[in-house]
Amino acid sequence: MDYQLSIPAIVRRTETLFGDRAVVSRRPDRTVGRSSYAEVLERTKRLGAALQRLGIRRGDRVATLAWASQQHLEVYLAVPSIGAVLHTLNLRLHHDDLAYIVNDASDRVLVVDESLLPLYEKFRAHTAIERVVVIGSSPGPGYLDYEALLAEADLAGRRDVDVDEQDAAAMCYTSGTTGRPKGVVYSHRAIVLHSFGQGMVDTLGIGERDTVLPIVPMFHVNPWGLPFTCTLFGAGQVFPGPHLDPKSIADLLVSERVTLRAGVPTVWLGLLQELDAHPGEYDLSRLRAVVVGGSAAPASMIRAFKERHGLDVVHAWGMTEMAPLGTLCNLPTSLRDAPPEVQLQYRARQGTPLPFVEIRATTEQGPAPWDGSTMGELEVRGPWVARQYYNVDGPDDRFTPDGWFRTGDIVTISSRGCIELTDRAKDLVKSGGEWISSVALENALMGHPKVAEAAVVAVPHPRWDERPLAVVVLKPGQSALPDELVAFLEPHFAKWWLPDTVEFVTELPRTSAGKFKKSALRERYRGRYMNV
Ligand code: ADP
Repeated sequence: MDYQLSIPAIVRRTETLFGDRAVVSRRPDRTVGRSSYAEVLERTKRLGAALQRLGIRRGDRVATLAWASQQHLEVYLAVPSIGAVLHTLNLRLHHDDLAYIVNDASDRVLVVDESLLPLYEKFRAHTAIERVVVIGSSPGPGYLDYEALLAEADLAGRRDVDVDEQDAAAMCYTSGTTGRPKGVVYSHRAIVLHSFGQGMVDTLGIGERDTVLPIVPMFHVNPWGLPFTCTLFGAGQVFPGPHLDPKSIADLLVSERVTLRAGVPTVWLGLLQELDAHPGEYDLSRLRAVVVGGSAAPASMIRAFKERHGLDVVHAWGMTEMAPLGTLCNLPTSLRDAPPEVQLQYRARQGTPLPFVEIRATTEQGPAPWDGSTMGELEVRGPWVARQYYNVDGPDDRFTPDGWFRTGDIVTISSRGCIELTDRAKDLVKSGGEWISSVALENALMGHPKVAEAAVVAVPHPRWDERPLAVVVLKPGQSALPDELVAFLEPHFAKWWLPDTVEFVTELPRTSAGKFKKSALRERYRGRYMNV
């Protein structure tokens, strides 16, 4: 049958099979709200009817500016269900960028958290948003109240929309660290197939028995697709709201008996410190997987979670342009009885591609052999990889003429197809014509017992073109000298790889997704080697 792979099909299934599973969200005032899928999906329908009443039609864009919450999930499901396009706005962006993005996407309606209204007010005058719906208590004149809209919705008047699986369901903008942010559109088909791929046993094995807590903002690639995957398979979902400090996260993991959580390494490094500081205080026995992605998971962190807290870290790699999951690292049978150190080294890699995601690495000389040592730029293709950027006409060198997407990541690929990411092309340190992996250096530094976080950046150098510089945050109460840290690296790297300088700071700048903001560090230290 020509069955359409669409978000309405996901919703129909969940409605009939998993109505009693829980959706939990922690509100800004820290109280916890509990609902069932049955309630959430009833409200989703009401929201869909209300949006239709406001004039939203197939293909129209509905933007959100909101924290992770049950209401945000409702918008996630309601908008694509009426054939419109969910556009999640990044609440950490500058208001000029937000205005640019809203205009580029031609957003017609905005759903916004009350606490984020001041941010909207900053760019409101530069956009043409027609209606603004506020989640929270009694918004002022000119705004619509989310709860009132749902209460008054005319369900009988709701029109079913025949969604085509190739229709756009959602869109996100890339972070735009170089140039303007670019829109990436996800079709219904891409989201459904991504959910399938993500949920399979050899990937994350997500099922009805799971309770999933993504510590990934709702504006960052649809929390790695997890709200859709969990809804499809009936897994319980927990939304953390705006409280993302390690203690608040640890409390939520325990109180909601979370089985799977996902986030970037910086979030889990913070949690690790919290768990280490309070041994035995948190019962995390339900947790079966800690999914880490977005930037490289240091081996020392994977080891610490396993040895000190009995938790398995699953390392994953992905991108905004691929909805986002591309590869995932599960230990293969051949390594089941390998020494722990060998297993650890494998787990610290980014893993093998999901079904239907194809990979290749390309060098200036052509395709790189799958030998685990030749570095090349990773290229991907598959059903949830973007074909082009939104609103960008003309040739784009991120897409190859033979149908692959160039990721900008430099990798090696092993004979069994396991990728190891050396660096982002733009973060590699090019010293005397040779490449140094900033990722390898920072991961090694984070293995030092006194180091909490470390980032390594390329700094212009008069003789060598660029040289590595390490920026380090020490654990509370620790002190160290640069030489001590460089000596710690020495046994593992060629001498010319070692950072010329180690700077100690109290905090590393972060991107909106919580990754280290290396562009800011490069800028801060760009003159550091100019007089050497
Ligand atoms: P941005 O980081 O620019 O906001 P994305 O979320 O799309 O946008 O980031 C994708 C990039 O993040 C990848 O190209 C890669 O460089 C990096 N990345 C993602 N997962 C991992 C991982 N497990 N290890 C190392 N780098 C990763």
